[in-house]
Amino acid sequence: MRIGITADANMQPTTAPRLRLAPYVRKSLVDVLVKNDITPVILPIAKPEMAAELVGMVDAIIIPGGPDVSPALYGEDPHQRIGMTYLPRDEFEFALLRESVQQKKPVLGICRGVQIINVAFGGTLYQDLNSQLDGAAIRHEQVPDAAFPTHYINVEENSFMAQSQGTHPFVNSKHHQAVKVVAPGFHVTARANDDVIEGIENEDQSIIGVQWHPEAFWQDHAEQEQLFLDFFQLVRDRQGQ
Ligand code: MN
Repeated sequence: MRIGITADANMQPTTAPRLRLAPYVRKSLVDVLVKNDITPVILPIAKPEMAAELVGMVDAIIIPGGPDVSPALYGEDPHQRIGMTYLPRDEFEFALLRESVQQKKPVLGICRGVQIINVAFGGTLYQDLNSQLDGAAIRHEQVPDAAFPTHYINVEENSFMAQSQGTHPFVNSKHHQAVKVVAPGFHVTARANDDVIEGIENEDQSIIGVQWHPEAFWQDHAEQEQLFLDFFQLVRDRQGQ
């Protein structure tokens, strides 16, 4: 089985011209695929018109973390506290998502991934939780390394996520944005104790989004590797249909 992972563009300061905006994927995400005999295919930001061919090359897509989603895509100006945005990646991932639905290829969105999914299908985001959500009481931009979980979430029973995560998993948190208005056709599957949305999925469970970073701590947390294993199984099950 082949799974495409959308690449980020390197925006770290660098003196090496070859590394400027270079496509890259976090190694621990590639590793969880390779360990479980899934062939990883890194999808660099390309023309949106290439989405059909690229999605056709893989069995499913994973959209990992990265910069904030451009708020123009949900009809807002940038808030004072918004972080880095990168419109070419937004537009490319919009095209990949449209094409994934068209070709019936499942999608797993992680962190920014759940956010771009929500915006692509008509939802909105908090551009900055601390300044825009009264009652956001939890530090969602955790200081410890993402290898360590810091807050609990409450998972809806009967969701894809509940299978592998149980109802009360302990997760990491490296986000200052979150889903605000949920996109039509999607529902919330997990919330933090301050009600911040931590997971969504669509009605046929072919598009799954999580706000935490399972790829950053699966090595020491079997239930986080299980999230990937359950996604791989979901992809296999859909192939039989
Ligand atoms: Mn969080």
